[in-house]
Amino acid sequence: MNLLQALAAAVGEANVLTGEAAAPYLTDWRKRYRGRAQAVVRPGATAEVAAVVRACIAARAPMVPQGGNTGLVGGSVPSRPGLVVVSTSRLDRLGPVDRQARQVTAGSGVRVADLQRHAAAAGLAYGVDLASRDTATVGGTVATNAGGIRVVRHGDTRAQVLGVEAVLADGTVVSDLAGLPKDSAGYDLSGLLVGSEGTLGLVTAARLRLVEPLPAGRTTVLAGLRSVVDALGLLDQPDLLAAEVVVGPAMDLVCSALGLPFPLADRWPVYVLLETAGTPRLAADSDAVVDPRVWQYRERQTEAVATLGVVHKLDVAVPLDRLDELVAALPDAWAPYDGYVFGHLAEGNLHVEVAGAPPGDADVDGRILRLVASMGGTVSAEHGVGTAKTEWLGLCRSPAQLAAMRRIKDALDPDHRMNPGVLLV
Ligand SMILES: Cc1cc2nc3c(=O)[nH]c(=O)nc-3n(C[C@H](O)[C@H](O)[C@H](O)COP(=O)(O)OP(=O)(O)OC[C@H]3O[C@@H](n4cnc5c(N)ncnc54)[C@H](O)[C@@H]3O)c2cc1C
Repeated sequence: MNLLQALAAAVGEANVLTGEAAAPYLTDWRKRYRGRAQAVVRPGATAEVAAVVRACIAARAPMVPQGGNTGLVGGSVPSRPGLVVVSTSRLDRLGPVDRQARQVTAGSGVRVADLQRHAAAAGLAYGVDLASRDTATVGGTVATNAGGIRVVRHGDTRAQVLGVEAVLADGTVVSDLAGLPKDSAGYDLSGLLVGSEGTLGLVTAARLRLVEPLPAGRTTVLAGLRSVVDALGLLDQPDLLAAEVVVGPAMDLVCSALGLPFPLADRWPVYVLLETAGTPRLAADSDAVVDPRVWQYRERQTEAVATLGVVHKLDVAVPLDRLDELVAALPDAWAPYDGYVFGHLAEGNLHVEVAGAPPGDADVDGRILRLVASMGGTVSAEHGVGTAKTEWLGLCRSPAQLAAMRRIKDALDPDHRMNPGVLLV
């Protein structure tokens, strides 16, 4: 039996795609990364995923797990020819909400927005929210440890995960879906899979924490401010539900690129979007508008930047007391190109988007990431390393840390069949 026949035996012929049918799975959301694959396969159950992995082992074919394919660092499409894309689109089962325990089990192919609606129908909420919610999946967000706009309130994806079920690179299934709030029996395999970007196994389901819904009477305000320091001063207030930042030129771009009216009377160096349960406290020297629709000026930033072509996307974070310094230093680092900056204020997480640089010019990325590392920051705050950042991982991880990561990879995936080229090279 050849590989395609073995895959068809595992999942049914209709769920093995090749040629034109496979094409949408081979290019990432940004159209920055394109790959080739022997096939795209869509298992519908954990046992089918295990059968797919066994078929790939027999054929010596490496695999790339793919969820919603909204990843921004090239990790969800084949990094080299000969791979099999394993799409989780049919692993979309949502279990019943356990209201007492405030938990739910979700298949890895469940879209974040569907999980949010499922939780809301039971009077609860899912703590992770991000602009890609309609397409990004539970498995993808677990595999990248996605952040988003509610980290300030509920923490990142890691903080929601009570356990995962996954198929490892040798086809074995490890399952931890009991949802025990306390469990200290040995290594945290689920925790290891969170943020592993498909390099250790394919997550098939996750047991997730649910939270109280956001208060109905919350206030959303967009404020123009003189500086990042003024913006940071707004973080210290009760019942903060969101705190996002947009630096001047990025606000101009989202308005001009998407035809949105400028939201405030004047232009300011820095804009902050705050959501609070009560009335937010603002700086004396600011200009503000209260309206939930101001979310579009933050949430549509990625879309606005995409109108400039394929930009260099960096997703960094520094300690809060270095954020002002970073924002001031960035224009020198991205010169002679144009840069746009927005992000998640409370975590010091900035998305730095450089337009005009040739796609292959890694120098500009290096200048920015070295600057971030010199301030004690990370080269990836929430998007992951993918294939885009492998070269820079050593800026924020020591040789000892990298060596330990490699030993974990070698132990669980000695033949490097799970997402080769991603995270560690
Ligand atoms: C408009 C827009 C806004 C965004 N905003 C945010 C944001 O605020 N915060 C944020 O963190 N990210 C954001 N992202 C990035 C992206 O949505 C996240 O990285 C998301 O977690 C990816 O989920 P996905 O299902 O699309 O995964 P994919 O893109 O399909 O995959 C991402 C990575 O996870 C791996 N993977 C996917 N599924 C599995 C699985 N079941 N098991 C093992 N590995 C798997 C893939 O191999 C790949 O390495 C945004 C993207 C867009 C397009």
